[in-house]
Amino acid sequence: MSKILIIEDEEAIADLEKDYLELSEFEVDICNTGDAGLEAALKVDYNLIILDLMLPGVDGFEVCRRIRKEKDIPILMVSARKEDIDKIRGLGLGADDYMTKPFSPSELVARVKAHLARYERLVGNTQKAQNDIVEIRGIRIDKTARRVYVDGVEKTFTTKEFDLLTFLAEHPNHVFTKEELFQEIWDMGPVGDIATVTVHIKKIREKIESDGSKPQYIETIWGVGYRFKI
Ligand code: CA
Repeated sequence: MSKILIIEDEEAIADLEKDYLELSEFEVDICNTGDAGLEAALKVDYNLIILDLMLPGVDGFEVCRRIRKEKDIPILMVSARKEDIDKIRGLGLGADDYMTKPFSPSELVARVKAHLARYERLVGNTQKAQNDIVEIRGIRIDKTARRVYVDGVEKTFTTKEFDLLTFLAEHPNHVFTKEELFQEIWDMGPVGDIATVTVHIKKIREKIESDGSKPQYIETIWGVGYRFKI
């Protein structure tokens, strides 16, 4: 459930906004001063903030600026004066949207939903990009770019070497037989020469291990197969 913080000194307005947002299944907190709002915004993981401009204590301009330094969640600023909205835009404080009071609560809810959806898409995309990197100790495999770095130095791998290394690194501590690896990477079933696996493991080790006789990454389990040590 998305959590929303309303920073608003006019309690009637804050309560109205809260009621409408709660009807749409949002969890809502209210702070009535800039100082309390700023403290809550930095301490609690809110998904979106509705921020009034004119507040007792620290004003909305400053609250927006300080939240923006630490967090990239959507901030929707509201003000009773059209001129203030122009001023906010001009200052480039990093607010995501602006509304002039009075506004209809249903419009507020619609905008909140739009910003949350947009933000979740952005965050989701970032996480996806991070998932394309496999990192175990000194080895960093960029699956998207198909590049491998050992202690920060890029090493060149053939297609099959890359696939084999990535497969093992993505299943650390799991012992695979040569047959399983052959099937997984070469996808040729029982035909073909499973000694190919041994040859490829040797080539990979030459590139990632500092001492081939004492492998730190791909370990041989005698009589069974190989595993990537974590
Ligand atoms: Ca106010």
